[in-house]
Amino acid sequence: MDDYLPISMLNQLEYCARRFYLMHVCGEMEVNAHVLEGSLRHQQAHSAGAEREGDVLSHRRVYLWSERLGVAGFADVVEERVVDGRRVLIPIEYKKGRMGRWLNDHIQLCAQAMCLMERSDADVPKGYVFYFGSRRREEVHFTPELQARTLQAIQRARQLIAQGKLPPPLEHYAKCRDCSLEPICLPREMRKLSETAV
Ligand code: SF4
Repeated sequence: MDDYLPISMLNQLEYCARRFYLMHVCGEMEVNAHVLEGSLRHQQAHSAGAEREGDVLSHRRVYLWSERLGVAGFADVVEERVVDGRRVLIPIEYKKGRMGRWLNDHIQLCAQAMCLMERSDADVPKGYVFYFGSRRREEVHFTPELQARTLQAIQRARQLIAQGKLPPPLEHYAKCRDCSLEPICLPREMRKLSETAV
């Protein structure tokens, strides 16, 4: 499974191709207070195991993979229930902040769902992203469009890895402001350098 793509990296890619490349290919990771808080919350909330509440069985920290897609990773929680005689699985991903304006969390969740679809005969119609920052649970439907978008992200990740070239910084500095890799990436400085080089 060495060349399986970590599902969490699809989230990075959808946010910014340069961030994906820096993390996945170059192995860069800036552990600032926000990153540390996020991983501590995950550790506290999700040691592996399962518990039942009523007719819902919740599996925590579930390892998922897809041979068809070549991706693998963990789901924070997968809820299991029976609806009209059919087994239904619902992946849930926990995020530190608030709901963003980008689709990156949806893509990550959808890749988890596509693994579940491949590995079980259950229905996987929707999932949730829970944002600690706003205490909000956002419902995400795994529509054919979102699945197609997720496939595109996987293909793009493979292209970027094969090209072996660090993508340029974003022009979208709103994203850079919230990016933990900003001190490593230096988007403004790199842009200035490329402008003066022309
Ligand atoms: S600082 Fe901006 S360009 Fe650089 S990796 Fe982060 S989001 Fe991408």
